Amino acid sequence: MNVAVVLYTSDLRLHDHPPMRAALSSCGRVVPLFVRDPAVAAPPNRLAFLADCLADLDAGLRARGGRLVVRSGDTVAATAALVRQADADEVHMAAGVSTFAHAREERLRAALEAEGRRLYVHDAVITAVAPGAVLPAGRSDHFAVFTPYHRRWEQQPLRAAAPAPRAIRVPAAVSSEPLPERAAVTDTSPGLAPGGEHEARRLLAGWLRPGISRYAETHDDLAGDATSRLSPHLHFGTLSATEAVHRARAAGGPGADAFVRQLCWRDFHHQVLAARPGAAARDYRPRHDRWRTGPAADEEVQAWKDGRTGYPVVDAAMRQLAHEGWMHNRGRLLAASFLAKTLYVDWRVGARHFMDLLVDGDLANNQLNWQWVAGTGTDSRPNRVLNPVRQGLRYDPTGAYVHRWVPGLAGLPAPRVHGPWRLGGLERARYDYPDPVVELADGLDRFRRGRSG
Ligand SMILES: Cc1cc2nc3c(=O)[nH]c(=O)nc-3n(C[C@H](O)[C@H](O)[C@H](O)COP(=O)(O)OP(=O)(O)OC[C@H]3O[C@@H](n4cnc5c(N)ncnc54)[C@H](O)[C@@H]3O)c2cc1C
Repeated sequence: MNVAVVLYTSDLRLHDHPPMRAALSSCGRVVPLFVRDPAVAAPPNRLAFLADCLADLDAGLRARGGRLVVRSGDTVAATAALVRQADADEVHMAAGVSTFAHAREERLRAALEAEGRRLYVHDAVITAVAPGAVLPAGRSDHFAVFTPYHRRWEQQPLRAAAPAPRAIRVPAAVSSEPLPERAAVTDTSPGLAPGGEHEARRLLAGWLRPGISRYAETHDDLAGDATSRLSPHLHFGTLSATEAVHRARAAGGPGADAFVRQLCWRDFHHQVLAARPGAAARDYRPRHDRWRTGPAADEEVQAWKDGRTGYPVVDAAMRQLAHEGWMHNRGRLLAASFLAKTLYVDWRVGARHFMDLLVDGDLANNQLNWQWVAGTGTDSRPNRVLNPVRQGLRYDPTGAYVHRWVPGLAGLPAPRVHGPWRLGGLERARYDYPDPVVELADGLDRFRRGRSG
């Protein structure tokens, strides 16, 4: 009986999983494999979430007669070794978008072909629409502007979301290392969400009932926290983006349309990164910035990381990030704009900090959203600066978000919450809060001078 290996990467689920379906349709026995590769070692929040995902995947496989095989080391070497042990004929995996993922696929293909085995790389497993599946007229290899991409993306047919397989037979002789344990991961955020496909499906079901209907009006309400929180599940693939699109469309209404549009943003960034993998580290559209560096800039960056910039909505967002390993999208926009435009510090410094903490930290979404905010990416208004005072008043009008995350300001009346202000003598005794690290006008001035060259 033929054997196939299904190599899991960012697709840790049983439902709607094309590599597993293909493997099961051509081979009687399948080895579901996850390789703990030091080259893609994640920081604690994502490591802990990953442990949940692997435990849940293993449980789901066991319920179907199979199990998850875990190995450590270089993905290509570990997979090739397993293929030999199991005498597998083929390997199935999801297509990735990064330079690392492309190189991994090529190395694995070469290693397998040298031994007469085959690699099948499946598209549209990680995204709903595969990068490159829709292209602009002319010779460009990707869309650089969201709106025309969105128009074409909406018309693209999607495969039907497939159910989880009923049964999986794993060759008995194949051994596994123990699964990583969430409890063994230290330095995680105290409010970190649980991972795993069950949790993803539970969240999705709850989201589709009451949540999505009001999404169009409430997605920017910082205190309302009325977004899906599905991002870590989409990142780890415990939820299929294709299935999320289908189920949201079936729910219908303006909220569903707005939500599906956000899923399109996800695909948009993935197709940019697939075509321009260098954009993970280099300016997509260089603006010849002379970013601030040196001790003063370092101190301001530290204040930003600590949530002590003196701008309450920015600080609230940064403290939410530290506490939950997740941040509301409006908070991400504000915090990123504050670093890249108001402090005028290189977006890569902020992107790195986000990647260190975000449980949904994702190369395509993080780096390209940072570039969008910094004005080096796909935003058609690269020099716009988000004013944290006006944004705070608009998206946190009652101050509830600030009060939740900056307890030192508890009791400060709503109209005063968003500043900018310095605490007066009497207030200083009452509230624990720093002065602004920079006046907004000075920040703007530094940005304009630095960017204009
Ligand atoms: C500076 C910055 C950094 C970011 N870093 C990441 C990151 O590392 N990982 C990540 O998944 N998202 C990132 N985002 C996008 C967005 O903030 C999060 O996807 C969203 O806040 C997750 O919450 P949610 O699942 O409740 O989103 P919802 O509002 O419920 O949206 C549904 C899904 O759509 C996708 N989505 C929503 N907004 C965006 C967007 N702007 N770009 C791409 N996809 C989007 C996400 O997969 C999200 O789960 C970043 C945004 C900014 C401004």
